[in-house]
Amino acid sequence: MTTPLEPVDESWTSALAIVAHPDDLEYGTAAAVARWTSQGKRIVYCLATSGEAGIDAVAPEQAGPLREREERDSAAIVGVDVVEFLGYPDGMLEYGLPLRRDIARAVRRYRPDVVITGNYHDSWAPGFPNQADHIALGRAVLDGVRDAGNRWVFRELLDEGVPPWPVKQVLSAGGMHITHGVDVTEHFDAGVASLQAHSEYLTGLGDQAMSDPREFLESFARATGTRLNCTFAVGFEVINF
Ligand SMILES: [Zn+2]
Repeated sequence: MTTPLEPVDESWTSALAIVAHPDDLEYGTAAAVARWTSQGKRIVYCLATSGEAGIDAVAPEQAGPLREREERDSAAIVGVDVVEFLGYPDGMLEYGLPLRRDIARAVRRYRPDVVITGNYHDSWAPGFPNQADHIALGRAVLDGVRDAGNRWVFRELLDEGVPPWPVKQVLSAGGMHITHGVDVTEHFDAGVASLQAHSEYLTGLGDQAMSDPREFLESFARATGTRLNCTFAVGFEVINF
């Protein structure tokens, strides 16, 4: 886990970040988003669910709108003003053609150079299994990005007026398979603030580890930073198309 990381190629101008839940981007990736938007890059967020099943004491009907609001606040802190929700059911996300089609449609509409997503592998580390929605979403992103570039897949999208769009690269954040990193030392505070924006969610978690979002984020960012030879970094697996 201490192998050096290569710097992520930043010669792109627009990205679409696609994840399963409000807060997925805020557990680390948001600091990299803050760096990129400060460079003038345009980034849009697309979330498959509204995270409505994420707060035990709050019914989904109330939690969904609340978490969408927290996600929009959180995105604004790191320079993102467009946040789209696909409306899939939280906790019951399924890999399949409908999800791939919606991802392909979003890619074709926003026409990003790169797509950012989360860890799609089975686990975070030995003994720390990934969550089902993350795996389904991440795998659908890899396939949906391919579908976005193929005019003969989801031909109904042509009828909607969204022609094929080729994405150059997918950046999958975190996990055991990271090969590249982004120095976020200067943007770490924005990343912390973007996680703290999920205040009702974090309070609802009642999780001891999350009583201090800064310390939680620092522990990962410091370890990744060591591998990139800087103070704080975010790690990515890079998939080229
Ligand atoms: Zn999640």
